[in-house]
Amino acid sequence: MLYESTREKKNVLGAMEAIKQGISPDGGLFVPQTIPAVLIKDLASLVRADYRERAKFILNLYLTDFKKEDINNSVQAAYNEKSFQSPDIAPLEPLADNLHTLELWHGPTAAFKDMALQLLPHLMTRAIINTNEDKEIVILTATSGDTGKAALEGFKDVEGTRIMVFYPAKGVSNMQRLQMITQEGENVKVMGVEGNFDDTQSGVKSIFASDINKQLEDKGFRLSSANSINWGRLVPQIVYYFSAWLDLLKTGAITESQSFNVVVPTGNFGNILAAYYAKAMGLPIGRLICASNDNSILTDFINTGVYDTNRRFYTTTSPSMDILISSNLERLLYELYDRDDKKVLSLMQELATTGKYSIDGEALKRLQALMYGGYANMDQAGLAIRETFREYDYLLDTHTAVGKSVYDEYRKETGDDLATILVSTASPYKFPAYVLDALEIRPDSEDELDHLEILKKVTGKAIPGPLKGLASKPIKHKGVCEIKDMEGQVLSFLEQGLGENE
Ligand SMILES: *Cc1c(COP(=O)(O)O)cnc(C)c1O
Repeated sequence: MLYESTREKKNVLGAMEAIKQGISPDGGLFVPQTIPAVLIKDLASLVRADYRERAKFILNLYLTDFKKEDINNSVQAAYNEKSFQSPDIAPLEPLADNLHTLELWHGPTAAFKDMALQLLPHLMTRAIINTNEDKEIVILTATSGDTGKAALEGFKDVEGTRIMVFYPAKGVSNMQRLQMITQEGENVKVMGVEGNFDDTQSGVKSIFASDINKQLEDKGFRLSSANSINWGRLVPQIVYYFSAWLDLLKTGAITESQSFNVVVPTGNFGNILAAYYAKAMGLPIGRLICASNDNSILTDFINTGVYDTNRRFYTTTSPSMDILISSNLERLLYELYDRDDKKVLSLMQELATTGKYSIDGEALKRLQALMYGGYANMDQAGLAIRETFREYDYLLDTHTAVGKSVYDEYRKETGDDLATILVSTASPYKFPAYVLDALEIRPDSEDELDHLEILKKVTGKAIPGPLKGLASKPIKHKGVCEIKDMEGQVLSFLEQGLGENE
């Protein structure tokens, strides 16, 4: 299978190159030239299979230039009980009448980005070896919190790679900072930046665009990124929708002839796009319910066809969904317009110049048939946490709570009572202060590590191992630099030998 760019479809690559390059040189995103179809009867044998077997089946359909053995080994290395705190990897838990949560946060960072970032480094190293790449790959990432930590955990000690993560020194939560500055691994470096997230991100972008790139190649390094537009981050996410459906069958919650809905707390549109691909492959998904927080740009887009970033940006209690430009939406536009690359290019140019574009006619009709868009504000999300805990003894995090609130509204509005999967994107312990607040508990400490214990005492729910261990972990990355010194920091990291980076 080949991959083509959404902005210039004659730019075509194999899966290995698409994963290595991340983004097409024309600025477009790589999409599969054809979406592979699966037949329900071919999936029957996977009902009793574990997550790894299910993953191999789906990955082999897309990553056709990878050796089967490489896919097997990558899957084995990514989804195991050393990294995931649940033997099911992505367990499905019954929540309420016909509603199930798909818990994607049992990995090393307690948020769903692990599902892709535990696998991507292994795919990337195999791609490096099999395309005779002679350079060491250097992953450079700016993070507002979750992605950086998940990328660090994924790439730590992966041969042939190094990773450097920049975070805004005052722009991440205490918990997120602690997770990053205690990062272990011989090939990792974490650095705070005196600035906000936008400064940090433009700092990294300008490193990618600068002469340093050439200089690094001469020294045997190639810069790459692990952000969510890389196809290698999307394809592992398709797997868990199949896995969830197989689990619904296994428990008898649905039969092969019934379809189901999915609710996805959405930010950059990667997670819900993976559900779209699963549906397009033949998985019997009914409606894709796209849940946003106060930054409700996607809700408006689905309801009106107008995508307008000229609006107030809200900082909310679901920070990983505080996004106004959902990059992966471009891939869906490509499908809504029957793979018309010229059309997508013109929409994206309009977005870049005016901050706005709109779709209408057949494309809008298709979007609305496919998706329902809704949003929940911070009070509504808090209420969902409180009510769900009281009614079902189940603790939601703030992002999943947005999904729950939108689901309730959807069901009331449409009467649609199909079996539904609520995608749970983070452990409630990743945002303990907000969750305590939602439960109307006022802790007598400001320290988020104390909040973990208080939340445990009140709810009786187990703290994920990786978060529990944080308090006793030594701090390994104290550094904070100015924006203008970021490039120098990258160079000095690469001049050191492995393991000399503390
Ligand atoms: C990244 C993230 C999201 C948003 O996912 P997208 O794929 O960007 O739409 C939602 N919840 C959590 C906890 C996240 O980390």
